[in-house]
Amino acid sequence: MRALRLPAWKSEPELVEVDEPTPGPGEVVVKIGGAGACHSDLHLMHDFEAGSLPWNPPFTLGHENAGWVHALGAGVTGLEIGQPVAVYGPWGCGACARCRVGAENYCENPAAAPIPGGGGGLGLDGGMAEYELVPDARLVVPLPEGLDPVLAAPLTDAGLTPYHAIRRSWPKLPPGSTAVVIGVGGLGHVGVQILKATTAARIIAVDTRDEALRLAEECGADQTLRSGEGTVEEIRSATGGRGADVVLDFVGADATMKMGAAAARTVGDLTIVGIGGGSLPVSFFSVPYEVSIQTTYWGSRPELIEVLDLGSRGLLAPKTTTFSLDDAMSAYRQMQDGTLEGRAVIVP
Ligand code: NAD
Ligand code: ZN
Ligand code: ZN
Repeated sequence: MRALRLPAWKSEPELVEVDEPTPGPGEVVVKIGGAGACHSDLHLMHDFEAGSLPWNPPFTLGHENAGWVHALGAGVTGLEIGQPVAVYGPWGCGACARCRVGAENYCENPAAAPIPGGGGGLGLDGGMAEYELVPDARLVVPLPEGLDPVLAAPLTDAGLTPYHAIRRSWPKLPPGSTAVVIGVGGLGHVGVQILKATTAARIIAVDTRDEALRLAEECGADQTLRSGEGTVEEIRSATGGRGADVVLDFVGADATMKMGAAAARTVGDLTIVGIGGGSLPVSFFSVPYEVSIQTTYWGSRPELIEVLDLGSRGLLAPKTTTFSLDDAMSAYRQMQDGTLEGRAVIVP
């Protein structure tokens, strides 16, 4: 079968012929219906080197995947060949306290995981191929009625990651509150939909690109702002001077983290999701009082089930553009150039 593989750090992926996987005991092979292209893949191609992460290339890209059960290893029960499924992406040890409650994104025994701190498309072979080998049936989540794998694929990361980030801040998002989404790309546009579907907060979306701001409006943003010098003032004046109860930064650069901290309301949340390499100096008077600042990584399996439910009911509908495996690199080029709207999904 064909697979889009990252051969080494700081290199371009290659479309190559590899063996079709066969499942060992407890394993599942998924026929890929859609594999989302994440900006993290661009970071993998350009920003990391040996020692940056606990694993290294080569591996097949694609860490947001959905499709159909293709083959079951010995002992797997509860799944049927042909059944539509999503792949839960962060692969933990399955046995530690975190994994037991489905939060494998924060596995506490990574040495016992299939790969420490990674998964398919992140150190092990992912979904940008005709088939993906999933090392345990618990990582395969049946799709609810009517949810197409091409839409389910981006929900496993571009949906799950903002869902986890927003869900933890629900108590700070009652009616009358304001949420700010910085960066309305693959994750951010679903983030706006999640805020709309699960909270009554007023949503302000911030991006550098007009097309992204138009997409934010389509997704339910109440107000859109061009990212720049004056954005903090605009957020403050839109909130009666108070600032935003929750700021979600899907860029994570110096400038956006500084903007997010300055635009937050006292006792608010600033959640950094983007891996843009930025940092934020925090001192007593440099951020509003009692603002909680956190990074978040992906989401839990129970949260994925909730996200898929929202997707199957039409409450979340990622804006997708599909590409063939042959054309996968043009998806990444468009993402890099800022000409992609929403999420690119590779359909092998
Ligand atoms: P994307 O390229 O689809 O979207 C990024 C968006 O940010 C674009 O719309 C771009 O115009 C906008 N942007 C860039 N600079 C900006 C600025 N200064 N101000 C406002 N907007 C700006 O990327 P994506 O796939 O949505 O991923 C976003 C980030 O999240 C990436 O860094 C990715 O690696 C990271 N990520 C993190 C997790 C996690 O678990 N923490 C999971 C997935 C992705
Ligand atoms: Zn990702
Ligand atoms: Zn674990």
